[in-house]
Amino acid sequence: MENKFSNKEEFKNEFKRRIIEKYGRSIEQAHKTEKYMVLGTMIRDFVGVNWKASKETIAQKGQKQMFYFSMEFLIGRLLTNNLMNLGVYDIVKDGLADLGIDINEIEDMESDAGLGNGGLGRLAACFMDSLASLNLPGHGNCIRYEYGLFKQKIVDHEQVEVPDQWLRLGNVWEVRKPKHAVDVKFGGHIEMYMNEHGKTKVNYVPDMIVRAVPYDVPIVGKNTKVTNTLRLWSAEAAEDPCNANDFGQYIADVKAICQNVYPDDSTEEGRKLRIKQEYFFVSAGIAQIVKAHLRVYPSLDNLADKVCIQLNDTHPVLAIPELMRVLMDDYEYEWDDAWGITHNTISYTNHTVLSEALEKWPIPYIQSLLPRIYLIIDEIHHRFEYNLSHVYNRPDIAKNVEILKDGQVHMANLAIVGSHSVNGVAALHTEILKKDVFKDFYAIMPEKFNNKTNGITHRRWLLYSNPQLTKLLHDTIGNRFDEHPEDLIQLMDHVEDKQLQESFMQVKLERKKILADYIKKTLHIDVDIHSIFDVQAKRLHAYKRQLLNVMNIIAEYQHMKADPSYRIYPRTFIFAAKAAPAYLFAKQVIKLINCMADVINNDPEISPYMKVIFIPNYGVSIAEILMNAADVSEQISTAGKEASGTGNMKFMMNGAITLGTMDGANVEIVERVGMENAEIFGLRAEQVDEIVHEKSYNVWDYYHHDEKLKKVIDALVDGTFSEEKEDFRLVYNELMFKNDEYLLLPDFEAYAEAQKHIEARYQDRSGWAKMCLINVAQSGYFSSDRTIQQYADTIWHIQPVDVE
Ligand SMILES: *Cc1c(COP(=O)(O)O)cnc(C)c1O
Repeated sequence: MENKFSNKEEFKNEFKRRIIEKYGRSIEQAHKTEKYMVLGTMIRDFVGVNWKASKETIAQKGQKQMFYFSMEFLIGRLLTNNLMNLGVYDIVKDGLADLGIDINEIEDMESDAGLGNGGLGRLAACFMDSLASLNLPGHGNCIRYEYGLFKQKIVDHEQVEVPDQWLRLGNVWEVRKPKHAVDVKFGGHIEMYMNEHGKTKVNYVPDMIVRAVPYDVPIVGKNTKVTNTLRLWSAEAAEDPCNANDFGQYIADVKAICQNVYPDDSTEEGRKLRIKQEYFFVSAGIAQIVKAHLRVYPSLDNLADKVCIQLNDTHPVLAIPELMRVLMDDYEYEWDDAWGITHNTISYTNHTVLSEALEKWPIPYIQSLLPRIYLIIDEIHHRFEYNLSHVYNRPDIAKNVEILKDGQVHMANLAIVGSHSVNGVAALHTEILKKDVFKDFYAIMPEKFNNKTNGITHRRWLLYSNPQLTKLLHDTIGNRFDEHPEDLIQLMDHVEDKQLQESFMQVKLERKKILADYIKKTLHIDVDIHSIFDVQAKRLHAYKRQLLNVMNIIAEYQHMKADPSYRIYPRTFIFAAKAAPAYLFAKQVIKLINCMADVINNDPEISPYMKVIFIPNYGVSIAEILMNAADVSEQISTAGKEASGTGNMKFMMNGAITLGTMDGANVEIVERVGMENAEIFGLRAEQVDEIVHEKSYNVWDYYHHDEKLKKVIDALVDGTFSEEKEDFRLVYNELMFKNDEYLLLPDFEAYAEAQKHIEARYQDRSGWAKMCLINVAQSGYFSSDRTIQQYADTIWHIQPVDVE
């Protein structure tokens, strides 16, 4: 029962047989998409054996399992990842080649599973890969969105959103499990009654019932039989939809739940549909966990010993009142017992300190959509309020920690009260949570707070996406780091090696060539692969300060135009970013970048020294060719605002130099590589705090006292980059009439200097290469394998599965 194929010939025979069976055609006649579908299905079936064995082993041994509840999983493509993790990539590649098929062409048939916005969703995907690869029983729980995050096109310099129909060809990796469907209830009202034992009982009468059907995706670990499950829930019509008197409306309401990824990862929006989405996948996930538990154990008393649930940000926080509801209403638990189980089962990860991004919902929304859940939240609130006075003796902090206040439900406060662990995602971020954002919680429950610095899977972000660097590393330090990424540190013994430095620069050049070819093919722009590739790729947001990068480009452009004797070392500034469709400032910055690119790239005096490239539709597959081609990694958020960042880690692992502020995980990157092997600039988080608290900062002081800055800012509205002078008025106004909330002007000079410093250092080829190698060597710490092991040891308490 081992592999369905263990060598090339077996693979070829099986592949040919399946093409004929499925499509009634020969290999030669089959279309590329058909070949992709057949190969994918074949691999999924192949995985099925280990999948079943993993489930059986976990059940037999009664092992504790972790469920990662996340609104987003930004998975990208799975074919290459799965073939590589299964160790059959070469067999398949060679087998296909024998049949006249180029595996790269088949790989390109797969759509990115873009079930997320950015960092938070990609983190969840990296965690899934690490869990399985470390043999740990950990599964994902999410929504099967009909459309991924929008596809971005650039038309007349502007972002245009196009639906991402990632399921157009079907999804070869998923298995529909109608048998495991559960009902999720919305709306309606509550009836209280007394049962025969004189106990007050709640009868919930919903007005809409939706059927949640799971689609399971196997998560294949590297060199292991352990295969976990990513469960994606899809909403369908229930057999008894309840008071749905308008059937057409009911179907539309059901369909809406799983239609779209909510296209905003930072601001409070989405309203009722968003709440429905959140409750939908949480309620379905809990129902399945409870059902599965009761198939093995007689009661839910030991639930917290066998199951834990990690909440990826507050989006799934309704898991807390939902589990309470199930325990009390369906299984007759008293409040205190139910609370003990819930609290011990659930833990929470915070991902943001931006106050506009901390979820809050109007009380009437929750009351009307989820009346029973609201009652439970209300009781949690009152009991916590009581404890503030009677247990913690701190009634004075009530206004900062209460769950219900100002007519809203404060989801982060609910998450902290209902969980046994609250973690930040980088050391600095966790300190800010303790000292600032949640300081009053920290004062009364310090034991809950802990840090788990984010990581990235080195398999996808190094081994698979950068085979050139991987080979060089194998030749230099052997391949133990494939499984033990911390062993990359052995590279430290070789960073002075001139030969290795030169080889590294050759590898980097190869990656730059691959990216340059992509740019040529898609944008029809030639870039100089010997120029410095300076990359800022991440969601577009004011706090990430793409605009600071733009301002420096404008300044250099103006300087070169004004003074023909002044020329910079050739540089290619590359941007990639999606903006939330309703975020007008972000969309204008995208337009500004594209307009600026047009002017600069077409200026024959300037373009030999500077090009500006905006790569559309940033997503996982673009990131896989972008990060590893960078010389410079732009991580320039206002200090204190970026919780961790994970893009910074991908760049580092591929030997780019961090040009950044002391923010998020940049701090820990610098801690490892040393200040001299990064380019750090700008205000520190404490200084930012000081400026904000003192209210002394005035953007116009900078504007009037710095001629260079003034010219740069004027260029936004004087027609330099667009004949329509008002095109960037919003950008200008945000900066100048909101007193530069993200402190671009105070950091401008330091940033410009850091860029000059980069330019000088790049020209010392050996010194630069050494610096890159040190970054690679020190990047092992940022493997998500390390992060996951820390979660497993200190929060989840789960053990590896030994699949026979
Ligand atoms: C890694 C990654 C991110 C996160 O980037 P940050 O720079 O940490 O914000 C976002 N989107 C994609 C596609 C990624 O791969």
